[in-house]
Amino acid sequence: MSVHLQIEATRGAARAGKLITPHGEVETPVFMPVGTLASVKGVSQDLLEELGVEILLSNTYHLFLRPGVETVRRMGGLHRFMSWDRAILTDSGGFQVFSLTDLRKVTEEGVAFRSHLDGSSHFLSPEKAMEAQIGLGADIIMAFDECTEYPAELARARASTELTLRWAERCKNYFEEHKSEVPWARAESAEVRTAGRTNASAPTRAGEMRPPGTRQALFGIVQGGMDTELRRESAERTIDIGFPGYAIGGLSVGEPRELTRDIVLSTLEHLPSDQPRYLMGVGTPEEIAEYARSGVDMMDCVLPTRAARHGLLFTSEGKVSIKQARYAQDENALDPACDCRVCQRYSRAYLRHLYSSNELLAQVLNTVHNLHFYLATMRTVRAWIRAGHAPAASALQM
Ligand SMILES: [Zn+2]
Repeated sequence: MSVHLQIEATRGAARAGKLITPHGEVETPVFMPVGTLASVKGVSQDLLEELGVEILLSNTYHLFLRPGVETVRRMGGLHRFMSWDRAILTDSGGFQVFSLTDLRKVTEEGVAFRSHLDGSSHFLSPEKAMEAQIGLGADIIMAFDECTEYPAELARARASTELTLRWAERCKNYFEEHKSEVPWARAESAEVRTAGRTNASAPTRAGEMRPPGTRQALFGIVQGGMDTELRRESAERTIDIGFPGYAIGGLSVGEPRELTRDIVLSTLEHLPSDQPRYLMGVGTPEEIAEYARSGVDMMDCVLPTRAARHGLLFTSEGKVSIKQARYAQDENALDPACDCRVCQRYSRAYLRHLYSSNELLAQVLNTVHNLHFYLATMRTVRAWIRAGHAPAASALQM
């Protein structure tokens, strides 16, 4: 068993259902919080569970540098290492390496780059990225692609798209040969490992072995720059290579939001209707709601967590910058319409005080609220798809 999408309701182009993974079912359309270094900054795993997070995204590039893939693999894979028994998706590292503009060199073979941490030299190729992601052991792993920069001439976008297609084939070939090496699916060592940590007083730990034959899934990524024809071609040729799910990559790279929207909507038309569609690195609450209504099943973005750490909070009444003096004596809940544990308990005045005083708790509470808001936004869209009536304005009006 690998990963597949069970579509249970449709409305227009939108679909609601379940993504079946080796580590549980995920209600779709889904927003995936980003846990860059095997941690959603400031929020513990039990809180993420309480928030209803069913799938997390983690970054291969960062884990590759720290603590290193081999460490995570020896600790039984990412699920066991971070004690998270629900689904995980890792990106390939391509996007982060792409962001190191002055520190990388791209060749046919792969990308040589210098670590943003200490300047040390490293190399990622399609095969290396697969090896790393198999070692980390996420449920869904991503092909190693080249994220075309913006703006790019058409010839440059085409060359980049062709490189991504050649790399996609190499990723698939390596994955097919090595997919049995994922840490939680090694049938022959399962008994030994379980026996080795049997302890009556120890609670069941996350990341236990999965039944033999349970596998990760490798998703392909559509590139093509900002050209709809090239996007169509990239989609068709990636589908020809054959993956159990497809992502739309290469967006949120500095292009205007309207252009992002045009590219997403036109690319969606070329993706298989019965397989998961994942839009990478997007967006605001309004955007994730719109894309889910347009037929996207999965999205991720650092915005809710990063903004939270900067005191920027998403509410049913619009964005709130909690650092502002106007909230210093405001007794109201951050968002009166929100039923998260932060809004149920604390006032804007207290949240503003925590933020101004640089208290660690500010980061925790702000992140919990923002994640809750994003997850609630998706719950509203799922209910809209399933019930066939207009979405509640509260979660979608920004
Ligand atoms: Zn709240």
